Order: sequence, then structure tokens, then C-alpha cells
Amino acid sequence: MELQFLGTGAGMPSKQRNTSALVVKLMQERGTFWLFDCGEATQHQMLHTTLKPRKLEKIFITHMHGDHIFGLPGLLGSRSFLDGKEPLTIYGPVGIKEWVITTIRLSRTVLQYQLNIIEITEGVIFEDEQFSIEAKLLDHVMPCFGFRVLQKPLPPVLLIEKAQQLGVPKGPMLAKLKNGHDVVLDNGQTVYSQDVTADTVKGFSLAILGDTRFCQASIELSKDVDIVIHEATFDAGTEDLAKPYGHATITQAAQVAKESGAKHLIVQHISARFLPSEVEKLRKQGLSVFPSITVAEDFAEFELIQDELTQIYK
Ligand SMILES: [Zn+2]
Ligand SMILES: [Zn+2]
Repeated sequence: MELQFLGTGAGMPSKQRNTSALVVKLMQERGTFWLFDCGEATQHQMLHTTLKPRKLEKIFITHMHGDHIFGLPGLLGSRSFLDGKEPLTIYGPVGIKEWVITTIRLSRTVLQYQLNIIEITEGVIFEDEQFSIEAKLLDHVMPCFGFRVLQKPLPPVLLIEKAQQLGVPKGPMLAKLKNGHDVVLDNGQTVYSQDVTADTVKGFSLAILGDTRFCQASIELSKDVDIVIHEATFDAGTEDLAKPYGHATITQAAQVAKESGAKHLIVQHISARFLPSEVEKLRKQGLSVFPSITVAEDFAEFELIQDELTQIYK
């Protein structure tokens, strides 16, 4: 899994930061990628990356503010032009369906693929054998969701050489061992599954939170996750200013990461008020509360291997 930020700005685009869009790349896991929010010109940002719109499988929308959805119609249309044939599903708050369908209809946009739009409520909004995604309402000036993305434990890996050393022949016995069953060889000897399989590897976990004030729901969604992605529209000490706008400060974002027991925090939704030279100051304010903080820039790309978060593109 890799994360790539396509837009990290708040409210409207600036030269440094486009509006919200975050990609969760699952090329190894399922050959696709997922998009969280789709600010205006998200498809333009994608042109500067290796991402192919036809590989886009799911879009999760936190809330209906323009800086989180105005890129949708263009991207949906281009995906069709660019040979996207596989179904695409959008998950978002009430209103997303009417908005997307109306825009597509009035602009006479023709989609060559099946578009599903699911208006969500709190709870598990998606689950399959690999992943589960839970949504919870945060505390913004309109209904806004945060998402907890959990990858299920990976299937155990069979240590083939070890099995062969113990005399297990090629064939169905290997499959049985891999699936956790012990087998008895022709010579009467038992081979135990646990002796020839590596421990199950735990999956990754993310909390991807939309615009919000500091709130308990953020902490619950972020409980023990590998990475929390939180907004930081304001800097430390301006909590009273942030509150009426439904936003949080960098220290409040750090507080969420700390109280939830998360391993890493990446902040985004950075106001254009902050000059690029002030970003490090912003990060340091958060560091006084939580030790692992990165302020994401547009196109920043991260990789999580075991518990280690590495920035692979700045
Ligand atoms: Zn916003
Ligand atoms: Zn908003």
C-alpha cells in the first residue's frame, strides 16, 4: 500500500496546493487504487503521476463542500474516455447522488462503465475478504465523515522448502498445510501446519478524516491505526478561530493521534495563509504533542512497510 496526496490545500487552490484528494494505492493488493475526496482539478494532478483513471475502483467523499467534490464530474467523464470499463463506486453523504447524476445528465456525459453511488450512514460501509471500511460522522459545519480503513490479516505463507524437507510431496497436501490443516504422510508421520507456515502478517490500518473540529469520533476511528490523516487548517494557539469554521489546529490533530495510540500522523488541508517557509514551524508545533508528524505536500507519496512509514516522493 502506498499513499499519494494529489491535493493538500484548504478551501480553494493555491499555487502550492490543490484542493483535497488522497490516493490509497492498492496495486499489489488488488490492482486498483482508491480516492478519498476529489477537489477541483484532481484529474489534472493525476496527469503528473503514474495513476491511470481506469484503475480507479472506489471514491470516498467525506463531505459536500466544493473543495472536496468539484473534481468529480470531469474525472468520471475522463475515466470513460480513457477506456475505463470496470465498475466504479462512489461512497458519500446524502446529496452526492443527486449532485453527480444531475451534473452527468445536464452535461450529457456518457459513461461507458457502471457507476454506483452509495449514500452512506455511520457504520461499516464496505467489506470484502481483504478490507473493511467504517464511517463515522465528525464535527464540521455540515455532515462530514471520517473513515477507518482496515486491511484484514494476510493469509499464512507456506514455507515450501521446509515442507519438502519433512517429506511432504508436491500436490494437495501442501494446500492443506497452507490452509492450517495438519497432514499424515504415507509413512505415518504427521506434519503440523504451524511448523511449515510463517506467521500471519497483520494488515495495515488507516484513519482518513475529513474536515473537522477536534472530536471524539476522530479518536475512535483512529484507535491504534498505523497512520492518521487529519486536517490542520489552523496553527497552534488559534483554537478559538478554528472552531466556528469547523476546523482543527495542528496541535489538535496531534492530540487525536496521541490519544488514539496511532503510530504516525500526516496532516493536510493546509491553509494558503501559511507560506512554504512556515510549514516546518507548523510541524514543530505538532511535534510537541506527538512524535511522528509529516505535513503533506501535493504529490507527496508514502509507503508503509510493517510499522515504518517512509516518504518515497516529496
Ligand atoms: Zn475543506
Ligand atoms: Zn469543509
